[in-house]
Amino acid sequence: MRAFVQTAVGRYEERDLPAPRAGPGEVVLRVRAALTCGTDIKLLNRGHAAIALPVVMGHEACGEIVEVGEGVEAFRPGERVVPAVSGPCGLCADCRGGRSNLCASGHADRTWGAFAEMLRVPASVVAGNLHRPPPDLPGEIAAFLDPLASVLHGWIRLGPAPERLLIYGSGALGLLWAATARARGVAAVVAGRRSARLDVAARYGATVIDLDRESAEGVGADAATDCTGDPRVWETLPSLVRPGGRVLLFGGCAPGASVTYDASRLHYSEIALVGSFHYTPQEARAAMALLASGEIDPRPLITATGSLSNLPRFLEAQAKGEGIRYAVLTEA
Ligand SMILES: [Zn+2]
Ligand SMILES: [Zn+2]
Repeated sequence: MRAFVQTAVGRYEERDLPAPRAGPGEVVLRVRAALTCGTDIKLLNRGHAAIALPVVMGHEACGEIVEVGEGVEAFRPGERVVPAVSGPCGLCADCRGGRSNLCASGHADRTWGAFAEMLRVPASVVAGNLHRPPPDLPGEIAAFLDPLASVLHGWIRLGPAPERLLIYGSGALGLLWAATARARGVAAVVAGRRSARLDVAARYGATVIDLDRESAEGVGADAATDCTGDPRVWETLPSLVRPGGRVLLFGGCAPGASVTYDASRLHYSEIALVGSFHYTPQEARAAMALLASGEIDPRPLITATGSLSNLPRFLEAQAKGEGIRYAVLTEA
C-alpha cells in the first residue's frame, strides 16, 4: 500500500509498504477520509516521546472495515467506522476513577497511520472506542470525532459553563471551541490571527479579536482556553480572565516546555489552572452524535480536499498556517 512515513524529525516520505493485517481483536480499515491536524505537524517538527519513528503519519480517519481479527464480534467487513486514537483498558486506577482518557495502556497502542491506503485499529480501540457514523455523514466530517471529542472533554474539565469564554487561538480546535460554545449558549471571544480563520469564528457566532491589530486584554472573560500550545500564551491567560476565573490548559506544549506564573495573581485572584488532555469513549460517542445531528458542523474547517498524492502540499500549507484543515479522500 501507499503510505506517508515520518522517518525522522522534520522528514517524511511516501513509501510502498505491506498492508497491515488484523491481529486478534483488531480490525483493518481501507481509509476513505483522513484529516491533516496540527498534531501531525508538531510530530513532524519535534517528534514525540511516545511515538517511535519511523511511523506512518495521520490519526483522524474514517474508513471501511476490510478485515476483522480473531475474536472481533461487534464489527464486520464492509462497515464504515471512525476509530478514536486510543482505547482505555477499563481496569486501571485511571479508568476506574473516571479518567479513562489518561489510561496509560490505552495510549501504549494508538490508532496511527491514517495517511495510507490501509489503517490498523488496535484491539483496545475496537473493544470500546470505534464508532459508526450514520450512512449519510461524509467521512471527512465524521473524522472530526477526534478533535471534537477533545473539545468536549475540555468543557467537562472547565466545569460550570462560563458566561463568557476567551478562546485563545484560531486553528481548528479553537474554532471547534467556538462552535460548541454557541451550541451551549456561551458567549465566545476568539483571539487569533489570519482573517480567513477569524471569519469562520464569526460564522460560528464568536466575537473575534485579531491579535495582529488588537490585544485580548479587557475581554472580561470568566474562563479562557488555550488553543495554541504556546507556553507564553499559557503564562498570559491568568491575566486575561476576571478574578475567580478558570484557565484551561488545552493546547499541548512542546516536550520539555515549562511555564512561570505570577503567584500573587493565582492566589489573590483565585485563578484556577486546569489541565485537559484527550477524551474518553463517552466523549467520543457524544462527539459523533453532535456531528451526526449536524449540531456541530465542521464543514467550514475543511479548506481543501484531494487524493493521498496531495498530502505533501496539504502538510506544507498546514505547517504554514494556510487554511485550516485538509481532507485526503479515497473514493469507495
Ligand atoms: Zn488530531
Ligand atoms: Zn485503563
